[in-house]
Amino acid sequence: LDGLMQRTPLQIIGILNHAAVAHGEREIVSRLVDEPIWRYTYAEMSRRVAQAAHMLRELGVRPGSRVSSLAWNTHRHLELFYATPGIGSVLHTANPRLSDDQIVYTITHAGSEVLFFDKTFSSMVARIRPRLSGVRTFVALSEKWNLEANLTVASSYEELLTRQKSSYEWPVFDENAAAFLCYTSGTTGHPKGVLYSHRSVVLHSLAAGLAGALGFSAFDCIMPCQSLYHATAWGLPFVAPINGCKLVLPCEKMDGASLHELITTEGVTFSGGVPTIWTTYLAYLEQCGGNTASLKQLVIGGSAVPRAMAETFLRKYGVEVRQIWGMTETSPLGVIATPTPKLAAKGENLTEETIWTKQGRLQFGIELRVVDEERRDVPRDGKTPGTLLVRGPWTIERYFGDDKSAVDAAGWFDTGDIATLDDDGFMRITDRQKDVIKSGGEWISSIDLENIAVACPGVRIAAVIGAYHPKWEERPILVVEPHPECAVTADQVREFLEPRIVRWWSPDAIIIATIPLTATGKIDKKSLRDKYKGYLIN
Ligand code: ADP
Repeated sequence: LDGLMQRTPLQIIGILNHAAVAHGEREIVSRLVDEPIWRYTYAEMSRRVAQAAHMLRELGVRPGSRVSSLAWNTHRHLELFYATPGIGSVLHTANPRLSDDQIVYTITHAGSEVLFFDKTFSSMVARIRPRLSGVRTFVALSEKWNLEANLTVASSYEELLTRQKSSYEWPVFDENAAAFLCYTSGTTGHPKGVLYSHRSVVLHSLAAGLAGALGFSAFDCIMPCQSLYHATAWGLPFVAPINGCKLVLPCEKMDGASLHELITTEGVTFSGGVPTIWTTYLAYLEQCGGNTASLKQLVIGGSAVPRAMAETFLRKYGVEVRQIWGMTETSPLGVIATPTPKLAAKGENLTEETIWTKQGRLQFGIELRVVDEERRDVPRDGKTPGTLLVRGPWTIERYFGDDKSAVDAAGWFDTGDIATLDDDGFMRITDRQKDVIKSGGEWISSIDLENIAVACPGVRIAAVIGAYHPKWEERPILVVEPHPECAVTADQVREFLEPRIVRWWSPDAIIIATIPLTATGKIDKKSLRDKYKGYLIN
């Protein structure tokens, strides 16, 4: 027996249509590459998105075909987030921090016909253009285009937009149609494409806004510092308009001073991103003695949030940090650390401790299991680690271009992460499978060690990797990058570490060095391993 309710498909353009009428006067403020700050409302944005849709059709973009972007967090990129899926085509948000080879690989693999790019990337686009034989149109996301960088084929977004009509008859289609194509950073092998659907994006956006998750209201002002090209900036371009939030887009300017300026002038209440951005921001605040003004909450994830960071933000600046765990394959919201009455009853300290040291708790829409090598559930005791499996309507089923499913027969996706679950539903990541250190048959959590090391005064980033050891097979090595102008020594770090860890976890070497980051701003453990794997036997 079918239900007798309307079958309105969940379409992404519906989010903007809603914001334009329900929150039409709320602002979007955007920094741009080399133009003054842009400012307009959801109502005005909706008219420009209609013009962008006409422009896409004029460029020959059809339902189902792909369009790539190489762009920062700006209002023009945001417009493509609605116009492209709005006409039924797919936006591939290429990651400009990948190598030329990987960018060419992803744009070619996506089969894109049009490439939109910020001016910052004109020489890169000129360089890779001969290898992009499938791309027939290049559009600079700028006011004007004056044939810079030998890109005679390019035109400018604004010039193409102005002559278009500002209303569009949005087509209605199946909510399972593809909308965004996001590639994982591919630290091993080629990047893999995750193809989000309208349904997965809309459901994810509804869930992410819930009070037990990001908890937005129309009084919030949101500044996404996670890149729009990284898993759609964790869905914030959709969660913000659904809830009528003001949206502030920082372009690529994520240094402490630039972020602080936007936070204070625009009244930002909420922001988020990977830990390295917030390490930089904290260092800026400490250095200039500033305060965080209107900022109330930060959602940090992508890699483990150092406990010391969450504690400093709350104790010193009154900003609550919510840790989030997810991956491109989970759209990306998996879990988020928010308090519960049961936890609150146990006392404030315990609540803070849990929120600061666990990745988050179960959310409706994403099921979690932690299993042993035989795929049996391990006890939910917060101690027993196992492989983390996930399942749900915004979790991947199959990679783009792959014939075989990415999940098992029951729909469970293996995340490649090692985690524990407790009986309050809190999940803690102890490692990535490939980062696990196995010393004499026992696991040492690199994340736990890094978390403690980064609390040592003077330490900016800490990375723990396993190096080959003739007796124990692997032993941990700690690489530490100090804050600029801090002369922290390996002995000082060891002195700080030893009383806080069990003896056999103590790193066999502590190295002071610059730590490389990946294209998504995470510690590049693969290159550290390559560099130091033989360190203990040399
Ligand atoms: P990439 O591999 O391209 O950086 P993802 O953003 O998809 O792409 O990475 C997902 C992985 O990041 C997860 O599988 C997990 O290992 C790690 N991760 C994400 N959030 C956290 C977190 N809060 N704590 C620890 N690890 C995290």
